[in-house]
Amino acid sequence: VPGVQDVRIAMTAERKAPRIIAVASGKGGVGKSTLSANLAVALRRLGFAVGLVDADIYGPSQARLMASEEKKPQAREKQLIPVDSPFGVPMLSMAHLVEPGKALAWRGPMAGNALSQLIDADWGEVELLVVDMPPGTGDVQLSMVQKHKPVGAVIVSTPQDLALIDATRAVSLFEQTQVPLIGLVENMAGYSCPHCGEISDPFGSGGAEAAGSAMGMAFLGRIPLAIDIRRRSDAGAPPASGDDASGKAFLAIAEKVAA
Ligand code: ADP
Repeated sequence: VPGVQDVRIAMTAERKAPRIIAVASGKGGVGKSTLSANLAVALRRLGFAVGLVDADIYGPSQARLMASEEKKPQAREKQLIPVDSPFGVPMLSMAHLVEPGKALAWRGPMAGNALSQLIDADWGEVELLVVDMPPGTGDVQLSMVQKHKPVGAVIVSTPQDLALIDATRAVSLFEQTQVPLIGLVENMAGYSCPHCGEISDPFGSGGAEAAGSAMGMAFLGRIPLAIDIRRRSDAGAPPASGDDASGKAFLAIAEKVAA
């Protein structure tokens, strides 16, 4: 995996802005950040030059997920320079701009400006920028989408009804703004037993897939609720960097997104 420095040296004068893939959900806590990190790592493993933006104002978690908490981005001519992560994915997080918890009280325009700084950073040769969107479907999300025009959106939902109702709001945000919907990921779909790996369905599963297809959206895959995914995320070792069942599940989703 080439370091960001190598990539920058190879950079030519002609540079295109990266294509943005927005990862969105109707509400928080459904695994949007987990999916964003793993999608970025998996796309990198598939050979794409990928960057990651953590636009989650209310709970920026990508620095921890991507083991780059200690890094501080530099700036050149008022443009931020992304920090490196151990997975070959340069990244910038809202947490790099503000101390944890401080941005909570931000009003729309402030949050929007900060978000633009992250997206308009010096991404070098990055061709695909995975943006972990703020949860929900308010003004900040709408103006980000209008201003930065993602090439596509991935919607994350849990199988529960409430999350699905919220997810439909996220879907309509992108429909209104003519951003193509790449598809839907059902997260926390079934519980994976840490002992035997059997998947049980305390809340049911398949709800997101059915609702997604009713909305004419492609289904990108299902990730079970697995202690291992939470542990590895907390430890800054995204499952997509490995080759076990959850790693393979994220890689399969990335292949569909890339297609
Ligand atoms: P969001 O970005 O939607 O708020 P997160 O990605 O931060 O959600 O996930 C919320 C919590 O749930 C985190 O602690 C995360 O590690 C955990 N989590 C997410 N997806 C899974 C999963 N499939 N299995 C186990 N834990 C998960």
